[in-house]
Amino acid sequence: MFYEEKCTLCGECLMKCPYLAYSEDNAKEEFQKLINGEPSPVTSDCITCVACNMICPEGANPFDLINIRQEETGTFQFGKRFLKMFDMGTKMPSKIIKGEPDKPVMSLCLFGDMLPGVFEGQLFDGSTFLKGGDYFCWIGMVHSGRPSLVNKKNIQTFVDNLASSSSGAEEIILIHDDCYATLTNKVKEFDITVPFKPIHIIEYLRDYVKAHQDQINKLNIKVAYQQPCASRYTFEKDKILDELFELIGADRVKRKYDKEHALCCGGIQAAMENVSTEEENKWRMKGILDAKEAGAEAYVFLCPLCIMGNRGRAKGEGMEPYILSNLVRVALGEELTHGGAGKKL
Ligand code: SF4
Ligand code: SF4
Repeated sequence: MFYEEKCTLCGECLMKCPYLAYSEDNAKEEFQKLINGEPSPVTSDCITCVACNMICPEGANPFDLINIRQEETGTFQFGKRFLKMFDMGTKMPSKIIKGEPDKPVMSLCLFGDMLPGVFEGQLFDGSTFLKGGDYFCWIGMVHSGRPSLVNKKNIQTFVDNLASSSSGAEEIILIHDDCYATLTNKVKEFDITVPFKPIHIIEYLRDYVKAHQDQINKLNIKVAYQQPCASRYTFEKDKILDELFELIGADRVKRKYDKEHALCCGGIQAAMENVSTEEENKWRMKGILDAKEAGAEAYVFLCPLCIMGNRGRAKGEGMEPYILSNLVRVALGEELTHGGAGKKL
């Protein structure tokens, strides 16, 4: 939610946006237009990376205003094919794979079958898995320029589906960053009560590794991390990620496009009709090459969509791609049946 009363019109959101990088005067002027509901190029040029919600020193959530204006004006040029894909995702058949009663309940969102060989091994054995459209959290719709779909009714249904499918579990582990953001951040806007404790996959992995330290062989590897856009809603867990990396002997390289300054993986630009393939690739490679120059030997992902778009590019630049849980599995001495990122490259 945009908090107009907090906004001082300082312009920092549009000045520090990596994609727009406006001058101070221009930024102030364009943000005022957005507040007034007047046409602004921001609505078609913003790629919905959510970074400005973190950039704003006042906590006013400028992206939420931009996103509303994108929907009102219809100027955000999200391709029809991708809109269809997003909408089909919400209707994807759902499945509950019952596990053992004392093992975790994990929500895989829409991604249960997209990455073969990922939800295997001791981290996942015996877990109950929830997957499919019933467990879609809706927050990703902001990237299709339709924030009105991230509404009380849809989020309440998502929460109810998780609660009713998990046999009264006190905790549910969320594999997708977006789901965690919805359950810990967006629910507050709509005054929705969550009857279980949402646990982020990073927290689960950190706690698992802490409890099984005797099984960990430190990796002694330099890694770069592709932060998902949804992490902007719950950035505090980045500290837990650093803890996890340390526990498994992964050295997170210092680089330009990490943490507060992370770039989008490029997946949103791929869906935008006003972004050329060359431009999309240029932005994707900025993140990858930045990691390579910083000395990363492995490129670590969290979001399945980031993985599918960039694992080949990372590999092409000599960095082994991993989904985070697979990197932990390697530290636990497990063999990966489908490579680090759900596909042998
Ligand atoms: S959401 Fe990202 S691209 Fe859009 S204005 Fe904010 S920082 Fe820039
Ligand atoms: S939303 Fe935040 S960063 Fe943007 S102009 Fe207002 S106070 Fe400044």
